[in-house]
Amino acid sequence: MSFASLGLHQDILLQVQNLGYQTPTPIQQAAIPAVLAHKDLMAGAQTGTGKTAAFALPLLHQILSTEGDNPCAIQVLVLTPTRELAQQVHASFEKYSANTSVQSVVAYGGASINVQLDALRKGCQVLVATPGRLLELIMKNLIDLSCLKTLVLDEADRMLDMGFIIDIQRILKKLPETRQTLFFSATFNDEIFALSKTLLKDPQLIEV
Ligand code: AMP
Repeated sequence: MSFASLGLHQDILLQVQNLGYQTPTPIQQAAIPAVLAHKDLMAGAQTGTGKTAAFALPLLHQILSTEGDNPCAIQVLVLTPTRELAQQVHASFEKYSANTSVQSVVAYGGASINVQLDALRKGCQVLVATPGRLLELIMKNLIDLSCLKTLVLDEADRMLDMGFIIDIQRILKKLPETRQTLFFSATFNDEIFALSKTLLKDPQLIEV
């Protein structure tokens, strides 16, 4: 299977080519068509499997395909358990969207909220955030998520281990109900399945 055969936007294909990626990894082969088909996903994938591109590439494709929509609105929200992962995921979105007008912003605690707000005010289609800081932005009415189309929970197991469940549930209440939800986790246990049941509609299960 090639990246071209997955039907991704040409600006994304060009960037994948520039980065020297030859073929999609197994998680990418399974997840990219499912995301493009607007399915909810429950994906089991470790770091290093190419899981970030597995959701970033098709979500960038979706943003580029709806460019006529409000270009300043946040369409994709990625929640991560740590600021380091938030920075990495944000850097990946920037890397894969380098040929495009898509903007990504990252927001996490322990850093100036004003700097993050300035970035948000300039407009972005992708927001990568840790739960605590996002909740602060939401509760202070500093962020508009009404146009959100896709929520990604990255490393969901670590998020639960770190005690973010209450924050996540409060965030979910503020998101549009009609949306695509993608769930990535290195491990699955009862708590993960319970959360996924409340979050996902008819999910496709992917394990690599
Ligand atoms: P991740 O699992 O998302 O942390 O990605 C691990 C590493 O694999 C990152 O450095 C990516 O740049 C790289 N990568 C992702 N997809 C591919 C691919 N299809 N071919 C080669 N490298 C890739």
